[in-house]
Amino acid sequence: MPYNISFISLGCAKNQVNCEQMMASVQAAGHTIQAQPEGADVVVVNTCGFLQSACEEAIDNILEMAELKRSGQVKKILVTGCMTQRYKQDVLNELPEVDGILGTGSYGDICDAIDEVMAGGLRPCHLGNIHTAPQDGERILSTPPWYAYLRIAEGCDNHCAYCVIPSLRGKYRSRPMEGLLEEARELASAGVKELLVIAQDITRYGTDLNGEHQLSALLRELCRLDFHWIRLHYLYPDEITEDLIDTIAREPKIVKYLDIPIQHCNDGILKAMNRRDTKAELLDLLAKLRARIPGLVLRTSLITGLPGEGEAELEELCVFLRETKIERAGVFPFSPEEGTRAARMDHVDMEEARRRAELVVDVQSDIIDGYNASLLGTEREVLCEGFDGQAQMCFGRSYAESPDIDGRIWFEADRDVEPGTFVTVRLTGVMDGELTGELVEG
Ligand code: SF4
Repeated sequence: MPYNISFISLGCAKNQVNCEQMMASVQAAGHTIQAQPEGADVVVVNTCGFLQSACEEAIDNILEMAELKRSGQVKKILVTGCMTQRYKQDVLNELPEVDGILGTGSYGDICDAIDEVMAGGLRPCHLGNIHTAPQDGERILSTPPWYAYLRIAEGCDNHCAYCVIPSLRGKYRSRPMEGLLEEARELASAGVKELLVIAQDITRYGTDLNGEHQLSALLRELCRLDFHWIRLHYLYPDEITEDLIDTIAREPKIVKYLDIPIQHCNDGILKAMNRRDTKAELLDLLAKLRARIPGLVLRTSLITGLPGEGEAELEELCVFLRETKIERAGVFPFSPEEGTRAARMDHVDMEEARRRAELVVDVQSDIIDGYNASLLGTEREVLCEGFDGQAQMCFGRSYAESPDIDGRIWFEADRDVEPGTFVTVRLTGVMDGELTGELVEG
């Protein structure tokens, strides 16, 4: 029987792809998808469980849906994703409003679970094998029509000491190239102009299939398709091969923006966290990338307050950032996650980790201010994403801004600019840390 289903997707872009696949399965089964939860037969909350803060956000969302359920505006609540995988029993015990759960190995069971909750009876609990869960599947895109994600692998084999992802997403599995190219072709013919190639670690792509790094080969094939930009999210530093650097440098469609999470730069901390690089290797790598890829914009993520970090190591990180001038960074206070090795090591409390994060953000703000100032007077190709009536300005992104994480470029235009089109913008100023400019015709 067809039902009205509403989805709430939390967390990262990889989780969003799971949600898009569930939406396609649900629609193919004859159900209707509605944007608002009010009036839905089933609300699916697709959770993130990477950090305690993400779990708290998921619980807040579930409780909001529970409120709607109590007032009769929602009939059933299904919870899927990383938090259910991590805390299955707690979700069932502590949240009686939840009618059923699906783990990260069981997204494919969504239609069965919907039928089961609507039939009543025992709460369904689908917890399939996370190491073998299928990754392919139709999707209903939930991003604006001009960009889409292509998830090329699932899981992670890096086992950083602070991270629970390998236990939530399983071992690293690359998707075969042919299937990826087919999906990419469909995205290109649907009008997608910017393809974001994503995985926990894209640099390892292919090594589990035939022992060889195949990311460069995949990218070369993707560049033959009708995309304007191809953007790469998350490169593990020590897996960046010479061939990959050459491919990125040579292929005009691959944007000169690389997201390389390093987490810290101190050798002792990196080693204790089971990271494979040293500071010297990171410095070499970043210098090599900047030399070989002109115009490169770097993004990273950093953790403050990791076990082993004292004032000296924190200062070392700040000096490293001032020296390497990594343009963009997500800075996170260390969160001792249950079940991880790092949580059992000595570390500062959350408040101190937060204080340190604020210090690093200040360093980073100076770097981005300098970067923005260096661009004034130059022109950038910008993908227009809309018009803001209040600001009376269009907004968009250049290659240096990834969607959702890096902010926008604001620009004045004396004509309508269609969202999803590329224009040239002369950069003239900075507003609240974001670049502003004006449309250049012709
Ligand atoms: S590489 Fe990233 S996802 Fe994998 S274990 Fe390390 S932090 Fe977690």
